[in-house]
Amino acid sequence: YDLSVAQVFERAYKRNPAKEVIFDRTRRMTYEELWNESRYMAAALRDLNVGKGDKLAVCLPNWHEFVVVYLAAAFLGAVIVPCNTRYQQHEVEYILTNSGAKIAFCTKEFSGVPHADQFTQAKNMVNSLNQIVSVRFEQEGLISYQRLIERGKNSLFVPEDIQPKDDVFAILYTSGTTGRPKGAMLTHSNIAHTGTISAEAMKCAPEDVFLIAVPVFHVFGITPSILSTFACAGSMVLVDQYKAKDVLELIQQERVTVHNGVPTMFILELNHPDFASFDLSSLRTGIIAAAPCPVEVVKRIRSEMGCNIVVAYGLTETSPTLTITDFNDDDMIRSETVGKVLPGAEVKIVDPRRVPVGPGVVGELACRGFGVMKGYYNMPEATQAAIHQEGWFYSGDLATMDEQGYIRIVGRIKEMIIRGGYNIYPREIEEILYGHPSVMEAAVVGLPDTVLGEISCAAIRVRSGEQLQTEEIKNYIKSKVADYKVPDKFVFVDALPMTASGKIKKIDLQQQLKTELE
Ligand code: ATP
Repeated sequence: YDLSVAQVFERAYKRNPAKEVIFDRTRRMTYEELWNESRYMAAALRDLNVGKGDKLAVCLPNWHEFVVVYLAAAFLGAVIVPCNTRYQQHEVEYILTNSGAKIAFCTKEFSGVPHADQFTQAKNMVNSLNQIVSVRFEQEGLISYQRLIERGKNSLFVPEDIQPKDDVFAILYTSGTTGRPKGAMLTHSNIAHTGTISAEAMKCAPEDVFLIAVPVFHVFGITPSILSTFACAGSMVLVDQYKAKDVLELIQQERVTVHNGVPTMFILELNHPDFASFDLSSLRTGIIAAAPCPVEVVKRIRSEMGCNIVVAYGLTETSPTLTITDFNDDDMIRSETVGKVLPGAEVKIVDPRRVPVGPGVVGELACRGFGVMKGYYNMPEATQAAIHQEGWFYSGDLATMDEQGYIRIVGRIKEMIIRGGYNIYPREIEEILYGHPSVMEAAVVGLPDTVLGEISCAAIRVRSGEQLQTEEIKNYIKSKVADYKVPDKFVFVDALPMTASGKIKKIDLQQQLKTELE
């Protein structure tokens, strides 16, 4: 497993250079074309003085150019710093300054966000930034992606020597829900190892076609999507703007076999009015992860999509795949748990004093092994707080582990609701809500209360064409759990606030509900 990212790609390329590797809205590329183009880009970047350890900020949607820059950086030993395409000006400036990026790649505008303006403005403030590369547009003062490729064709390129375990390949910024975003430094080996083992867990082979609709700037795109495609010498379909219908069409058209996604994507696809009209018979498997995966949804993916999905769990800081379900596990295990820890990594569940708890007892999940990041970039204190002696990383998630090693994620420590001294895990109530036939999406959050400290509130998005009354859903929950766990308030919404990586933004939801219920 101790390969660099470039070595994983090189193996796949050498296996069959003529094989198609990428399809996006604008282009189909073979392994050979991708190999050449990424080496031209690497050569041109080297001519711009980019060397080992230099940072390349990449603010691109799921386009083939992202993958080219990803590989160019891998050849050069440069570090990619993917930027969320929804960032606002101050976030762009923060990431560029914090990472010390030398070059930035951006679009003119994407999804209404004016990247070119943002980056040119940021260039005046960020001393390290020498050059902005314009992708799919031309602008005075910027150098275009195409021009760099042309330049690179005339340079001889010799790749750098990489130390997979030491050399950082990517700095991925956390969403910063708990303070300033922190840049998790992931090494070549973190990503190559995790991406390879994720592909193996899904029994991927060169025939596999991955659907990459999760953003490429997120770790779910970087590792178990892009790297896993290379690890099995397969191919990828890049989706830049998620729409359930487009995705269903693409699965049919491109005969997709591996569908990775966050729960919301699958929920939208399964509930699309035209769902039944698509031929999804090519779907073989895929990873569902990044947020709690409702049991009902996991079951429906298997029965209605005919897709042998696996549930995985991990964090940016663990590159991410840490645990995964197995095709051989029984149905209940495959719907209710996130599987077992992958070979080569370890998990323990601990109490607040960090003492391991017994089977079935809720505690914080800590882990160590091949995927755990090198640390947070330029933040030694935050690194020390996260990674303790002997390499244990504390996840901030509550979980249980049974005698066989199967792990269940209970929820995030910071999202737990303490109502009059009783603990409520939102996940438990959300699972019940997802079990109700009229509920499409749901989230439970805590709200401040002068008497109880906190009360719980459920926000529900009802399936289109269905009706749901507070009393009905309240009684439904009441029949299944202790009374103190029944949400105190119910709010029906048209949509839940989402992050760009497809998670429900509970902090925003909380804020929204607070104002609404005042
Ligand atoms: P931040 O940590 O800054 O808030 P983030 O939540 O987007 O950012 P990620 O690294 O993308 O950070 O997400 C990791 C978290 O996602 C985990 O800590 C866990 O809470 C959640 N998660 C991932 N997979 C699963 C899963 N299968 N089931 C439940 N939760 C999951």
